Amino acid sequence: MSLSIGIDIGGTNLRAAVVKAQNIIHLERHQVDFSILCKTNNPAKAWTDIIDCVSTLILDLLNDYPEVSAVGIGFPGFIDPHTGVIAQSPNLPGLKNVNLSKDLAARINRRVLVENDALAAAYGEYQLNAKLHHHDLLYIGLGTGVGGGFIHAGNTFVGEHGYAMEIGHLITDANGRLCGCGNHGCLEQYASASGVSKSYAISRNECLSAQQIAELANEGDLEAIEAYALAGRSLAKGLAHIIKVIDVGNVVIGGGMSQAWPLMSKAFDAQLDSDLIPVLRGRVQVFISQTEDQAGIIGAALLSVSKSAVI
Ligand SMILES: [Zn+2]
Repeated sequence: MSLSIGIDIGGTNLRAAVVKAQNIIHLERHQVDFSILCKTNNPAKAWTDIIDCVSTLILDLLNDYPEVSAVGIGFPGFIDPHTGVIAQSPNLPGLKNVNLSKDLAARINRRVLVENDALAAAYGEYQLNAKLHHHDLLYIGLGTGVGGGFIHAGNTFVGEHGYAMEIGHLITDANGRLCGCGNHGCLEQYASASGVSKSYAISRNECLSAQQIAELANEGDLEAIEAYALAGRSLAKGLAHIIKVIDVGNVVIGGGMSQAWPLMSKAFDAQLDSDLIPVLRGRVQVFISQTEDQAGIIGAALLSVSKSAVI
């Protein structure tokens, strides 16, 4: 069984795992914030430092596991899956059209695949849950933003240009909040951690994290409860549109915000039931991820082996 490395480049930490079959056999976690690195350096210097940091981590792992054949990276942002070029990413502000696949492959002498982080998580969820193997699967990641990935007939579905399932930018309120994409009322303005913080700040004029707001909601704070209910309603509105288009029956919800699912589920269920067409009501199964945030890293590793990656 071949070994591969999966890497998750998150907002404030960098995780790397050696993966065998669907199991992590070695996990490394480092505190690193590429966003700050990009904001405090010119683009060329920032990019060199990022490649240095990630390649050093991989080369250390390759010392211990030289039989690793490929490396997969789950990365938030707009990524061309055919070339590995990152067109734009919230973790790399100011950097545009950088080729993470090619530049890393040149350093580590292994194939490198860069995939959208939500699509990598979708593939990981699909591989880790045998019950879902005969069905299509839609993954929705609720984190700082909202990401999506679709597994169709066992394969990742990327669309014509590689940007399918940008669920976070479905417009759920045409007169709503301004989004980073330039539109108003995108789903991630409400159903992400930052969206919940905004909802609470608007009603209480107080800037708290989504986790702090969840604690307040559990203590009975009505504005906190409503911030999470709005997240649930918005998510259901977006999901109903997707289901009407692709008629997917299995949906997995992951990401850090999914831990607060009990605060969203009642509003979500009612809105989804209302928005779906009658023939689909009650026929969509929604699961909360049980992989403890490891689906993305495992999915990226497995995709690097199964897809033809850059050498
Ligand atoms: Zn948007």
